[in-house]
Amino acid sequence: MPVLEFHHVIKDYLNDGRGVRALDGVSLKIEDGEFIVLIGPSGCGKSTLLNLSGAMDFPTAGQVVLDGLCTSNLDDPALTCLRRTKVGFIFQSFQLLHTLTALENVELPLLLAGERKKTREAALDRLRWVEMEDLANRLPHQLSGGQMQRVAIARALAHSPRLLLADEPTGNLDSQTGHHILELLSRLNRQQGVTVLMATHNSESVAFANRVLHLRDGRIEVNQEP
Ligand code: ADP
Ligand code: MG
Repeated sequence: MPVLEFHHVIKDYLNDGRGVRALDGVSLKIEDGEFIVLIGPSGCGKSTLLNLSGAMDFPTAGQVVLDGLCTSNLDDPALTCLRRTKVGFIFQSFQLLHTLTALENVELPLLLAGERKKTREAALDRLRWVEMEDLANRLPHQLSGGQMQRVAIARALAHSPRLLLADEPTGNLDSQTGHHILELLSRLNRQQGVTVLMATHNSESVAFANRVLHLRDGRIEVNQEP
């Protein structure tokens, strides 16, 4: 079963009483183990596509099928379960909780998902994946931007989601640090089998992808397999 499918997805927003078509008939299919880069200019619909992929929002028409389930047909408990177990999100602003240590940030999704056993060990294991175990007890303000993004990646992968959704993950980082984050995502894809869907307007990212989706005005223009 594919990780994610879009079937003729349309997404409209209402802006000041005026309709805006953010996605205009998007169809796609993502399989386990892929590293997909979604590239396109600001406003073309990248964040919308990611939010729909993670069941954070829903199509106006068409279907989004995540892990075999059509997101529009699920009730709230089923949606909460889907979001907590099947997808992980990272953002350009990291979104760490400032009063929690790196380790506690990574542990939190496991506790929220109701896991009681060995959450510490599981969180430490993920911090090891991103080479941050030595700084596990630091607070976010004691970390650099690149280190915060590493912790955010560890947190997003804590519950072993089927899909990692990344919205401009290098957008707040200098180019060298951004390059290291891309290398890390690529390594996690190859070594841990993490499936990645990453939105960016950084063309350097294309080199890390096994497939590139070019989005323009809410439509996929090129769906290339390098
Ligand atoms: P990108 O991430 O590629 O910059 P977005 O998906 O954020 O693009 O936005 C696509 C279009 O949808 C833009 O015209 C944007 O203004 C509009 N849009 C996005 N989110 C909302 C929202 N919550 N409410 C209204 N309009 C939105
Ligand atoms: Mg965006």
